[in-house]
Amino acid sequence: MVGSNGIVADNPKFLKQAIEKLNQLQRQLARRTKGSNRWQKTKQRINKLHGKISRQRLDFAHKTSRQITNENDILVFEDLNVKAMQKFNGSMVADNVMGLITQLSKYKAELEGKLYHEIGRFEKSTGICSECGQRHVLTLNDRRFTCTACGAYQSRDLAAAKSIASTGELDIIAAGIVARVTPASQQKQSVKTKAFELSKLDFGSEKKDAA
Ligand SMILES: [Zn+2]
Repeated sequence: MVGSNGIVADNPKFLKQAIEKLNQLQRQLARRTKGSNRWQKTKQRINKLHGKISRQRLDFAHKTSRQITNENDILVFEDLNVKAMQKFNGSMVADNVMGLITQLSKYKAELEGKLYHEIGRFEKSTGICSECGQRHVLTLNDRRFTCTACGAYQSRDLAAAKSIASTGELDIIAAGIVARVTPASQQKQSVKTKAFELSKLDFGSEKKDAA
């Protein structure tokens, strides 16, 4: 997982090792005679490992979503069309830890009164230059690319994350949920952090107006 602010989270090493071991056991199971004692033994080891992996995966997803929610007030996620992605690269997304991180981030954000927003499933995010918005057709192997319009050399995943962030930003501004602001503390600085405030027309004031 790559975030527009530079956060990167990869499956931890122990989880990768456990998944490798699981694949090995599954190959072993395929070689054994179905229902035999040795088959049963391997099957048991696989079941046990499955449990361990799902616990490790949940733990990793909790830690990652905790970090994302602590560090940000507005979270924008891409609604991953996991099934379509699996067609391209089965092993990479089959375990769908990303879906788990998304769900848990949404849960934590809502619990803490933060904003969670998902951009459309078919909104294209890959191959858009993060500097000028030029679109490119990339293959799965193009991990980095040079923009054909402005020449910016960039990471495919980071550029996609920035594109998702700006689509989300436009969505929630258009919906009147937040407004872009420049806090007094930042007005004289050259380096500005993006800041938003919740729109004044929140549910409370709407109710008051109606009354
Ligand atoms: Zn560009």
